[in-house]
Amino acid sequence: MATPCDTHVAAVPKTFLQQLIDVLCAKGYRVVGPALRDGAVMWDTIRQVSDLPIGWRDEQEPGRYRLENTGSDQIFGVVHGPQSVKPLAFAPREPLLVIERTKGSFSALPTLPKSEKVAVLGARACDLAGLAIQDHIFLKDAYRDPYYQTRRDGLFLIAVNCTRALATCFCASMDTGPRASAAFDLALTELEEVFLVEAGSAAGQAMMSALSLAPASTARVREAEQQIEACARSQVRRLDRSPLPQALYDAHEHPRWDDVAARCLACGNCTMVCPTCFCHVVEEVPDLTQTRSEHTRLWDSCFTQEHGYIHGKNIRPTIKDRYRMWLTHKLASWIDQFGTSGCVGCGRCITWCPVGIDLTEELPALLKPSSQAKEKPGQA
Ligand code: SF4
Ligand code: SF4
Repeated sequence: MATPCDTHVAAVPKTFLQQLIDVLCAKGYRVVGPALRDGAVMWDTIRQVSDLPIGWRDEQEPGRYRLENTGSDQIFGVVHGPQSVKPLAFAPREPLLVIERTKGSFSALPTLPKSEKVAVLGARACDLAGLAIQDHIFLKDAYRDPYYQTRRDGLFLIAVNCTRALATCFCASMDTGPRASAAFDLALTELEEVFLVEAGSAAGQAMMSALSLAPASTARVREAEQQIEACARSQVRRLDRSPLPQALYDAHEHPRWDDVAARCLACGNCTMVCPTCFCHVVEEVPDLTQTRSEHTRLWDSCFTQEHGYIHGKNIRPTIKDRYRMWLTHKLASWIDQFGTSGCVGCGRCITWCPVGIDLTEELPALLKPSSQAKEKPGQA
């Protein structure tokens, strides 16, 4: 982490970014960054700085996402779109195995993805915290997922520290941002005239050495620190984790679950945009000749009927069951299971919920004595 007078922090003119993209391409990386697509910002291949959404910024509120062009020359003014880094490591659709029938016998063909070097330009601190959770799920101990591993090994992560928070962000209260603190190779902080650059790994340090970057002045480093701290202070949402996990377990029969179930559409948007959700299903797709079948892993959501169907019975038949399971897992049982919260405070589930359900509003309402639980959303 950068501190004032830290000689490992460099200051570079904005033109440095094209130089960085060119060096990464020359080293065989496909550079992926935020790009304007269909009224949102999505990851796409970046060849020129002009492919990035220069001058654009996003405004996000419960159930609302808008982009506007401010005409400024800020390169990373858009904080984030619906995608975290997750889909670049945990593919939404991944063929796991192909079974072929030949002359009365079967053969299983592996389908590991081709290893590809991908440089992710513009990952936010919450995205990296989410990726660390995915790493824990897919790569810990003996059960390492080779498909995830192959994609993950190819990633070179270039974080951008946030100097502006969205109305839906609450990473400061989750200790996951707005500064990227781990799991990055390089981190950039965009100031008015320059980028500050720091390395977070040996690969990042090697890249900085190869580019011969000049150290940043103490004043520049302090300016960046102040902007990141101001970003943290400006966050209007927060989540008090101190009573978790037990208080949420104790709220299992709280009437607020009925209230939120009456609003929830069980669409699963919240799970699709969440950087930490990892539920998936495996489907078998035979071809028409009946000689070949593909075993494919697809992202799934705990909000679907099918996801709760086990051995002839649906264990979560109602929306109330499913929302309660989702929130209790995110904020309580995840802590028992993995030792961390299952929420990194990115706010995406708030923005992309079509009816604007907000977990920072639901949690305090659920932790109030049930006699006070009849308040309308917004009064929590
Ligand atoms: S639960 Fe919501 S705020 Fe938390 S990490 Fe997932 S999408 Fe982000
Ligand atoms: S909480 Fe919102 S986004 Fe999630 S399933 Fe319900 S309606 Fe959809």
